[in-house]
Amino acid sequence: MMRRTAVVIGAGLIGTTTAWFLAQRDFDVTVVERRAGPGLETSFANGGLLTPSQADPWNAPGILARAIRWLGRENSPLLLRPQAVPGMLGWGWRFLRASRPRPHLQATRAILQLALYSLRTQDTLDEQLALDYHHLHHGTLKIFRDRRALAETRELIEQLRPLGLEARVLDPKAAAKLEPLLADTADELFGAVHYPKDGSGDAYQFTAAMQQHAAKAGVQFRFNTDISGFQADNKSVSTLRSSQGDIHADAYIVAAGSYSPKLTRSLQLPLPVYPAKGYSLTFRTSPARQLQVPVVDFEQKIVITPLGDRVRIAGTAEFNGYDTEVNLKRSTATLQQALRLLPKLAEDAAGEGKVTHWTGLRPMTCDGPPILGATPYTNLYLNTGHGPLGWTLCAGSAQMVADIVAGRQPAVNPEDYSFRRFSR
Ligand SMILES: Cc1cc2nc3c(=O)[nH]c(=O)nc-3n(C[C@H](O)[C@H](O)[C@H](O)COP(=O)(O)OP(=O)(O)OC[C@H]3O[C@@H](n4cnc5c(N)ncnc54)[C@H](O)[C@@H]3O)c2cc1C
Repeated sequence: MMRRTAVVIGAGLIGTTTAWFLAQRDFDVTVVERRAGPGLETSFANGGLLTPSQADPWNAPGILARAIRWLGRENSPLLLRPQAVPGMLGWGWRFLRASRPRPHLQATRAILQLALYSLRTQDTLDEQLALDYHHLHHGTLKIFRDRRALAETRELIEQLRPLGLEARVLDPKAAAKLEPLLADTADELFGAVHYPKDGSGDAYQFTAAMQQHAAKAGVQFRFNTDISGFQADNKSVSTLRSSQGDIHADAYIVAAGSYSPKLTRSLQLPLPVYPAKGYSLTFRTSPARQLQVPVVDFEQKIVITPLGDRVRIAGTAEFNGYDTEVNLKRSTATLQQALRLLPKLAEDAAGEGKVTHWTGLRPMTCDGPPILGATPYTNLYLNTGHGPLGWTLCAGSAQMVADIVAGRQPAVNPEDYSFRRFSR
C-alpha cells in the first residue's frame, strides 16, 4: 500500500513533536519552517514549566475589572497597548464572554485533562527516546501574599481534584523548607501550594532532540522555507505555496503558533488566536544557589524555573500585535520582581551580559484550550493556539492530532479542542 504523505507547517515544539508521531503512524512527513532550525520562535526560551496546575485560562471571572486596573501601568502583569485594540476587538469580546464562570470552569477542565495526558505522553517519550532536557519531576510551588487569592485557588483545587489534580497547601515555613531559597522572604508570604505532579524542563532542548529523532525516523525538514498560503477548492487543500515552490501532500497540518491565523485567512478559516507577548530572562547560577522546585508567583504572574545550571524567569503578557522587541524597562521590572522574592539569586544576575533577555508570542485562543484536529477542509488539520501552556500540552496535543490525521480514535475526547466549538 502507498504510504500517505503529510506536511507540517512550523517546527516549534508543536510541529516537531507532531511530525514525530505522524512518522510513527507510517506517514511520509515533511516539516516546513521559515527559520534555519527547529524551536527558534516561541518555543525557544519559555518558562519551562509543565503545569497541569495552571490549567485555568487567564480570562478568569473578573478579568475585565483587573485589566482596567492594570491599564497604562507599565509593570502590570497584563498590558494592553492602545494601538493593538482595533485589531483585537472580535477576539477580545470572545475572551470576555468566555470569562463567565461556567465556560471558564469548562475550559479549565478540558485543559487539565489534556495536560495530564500530555505529561504521561511526555514521560513515555523520555523513556522511549532517552531524551535529555533537564526534565525535573519536583512539582511546582505557587506562592501567595494574599488570603483571598489563596482561598480562591483552594476552591478551584477542590473542583479539579476529582479530575486528577493533586495539591498540598503549605504555610510559609513549610514552603521555605521545600524551597530553601524562599527562606529570606517567607515572612512576607501568606501561604503556598505545592503541586507534586507538575514538572519542568528546557523546551528548546526538547524540540531540538525531537527534531533529531524525527529526522532519524525519516521526517524531512525544509528549513528557511516560508509558507505564503494554500490553494484549495471548497472541500480540500491541493497545494501549499512556499518560497521554495509548491508542496503537495495528502494531509496538511498547521502548527505555526501565533502565525496560524495569518496562514488560514486565505482559506476563509478565521482562527481566534491572538499573540500575547511575554518575556524571559536566563542566567547561570552557582550550584549552591540553584532552585530545588520551580516557583510560581501567582499575583505577579511570573515563574522562576531551574534548568540545569541556569535559572529562567518568565512572565508578563502584553497585547501589542506581533511586536517582539525587548523593552528593557519591562524586562528588567520582571527580573527585579523575581529577585525581590529570591534575593539570593541577585548575585548571579549582577554584572554586564550575565542575563539573556528574550520575548516570545504566546498563541492565545479566545477561550483557553488549543485548537486540535479537523477543519471543514477534509485534509487540513490544526495543532495550534496553545497560549501560555504550549510546553505543558505539547506531547499530548501532538499525539492526539497524529491519531486524528491517521484516522485513529484519540485517547482524549477531541470535542473540547475542536475548531467546531467556535461555531456552536
Ligand atoms: C514568556 C513565555 C513563557 C512561557 N512559559 C511557558 C511555560 O512555562 N509552560 C508552558 O507550558 N508554556 C509556556 N509558554 C507557551 C509556549 O512556549 C508556547 O505555547 C509554545 O512554544 C507554542 O509552540 P508552537 O510550536 O505552537 O509555536 P512556535 O514555537 O512559535 O512555532 C511555530 C513555528 O512556525 C513557524 N512559522 C510560522 N509561520 C510560518 C510560515 N508562514 N512559514 C513557515 N514557518 C512558519 C515559526 O517560525 C515557528 O518556528 C510560554 C510562552 C512565553 C512567550
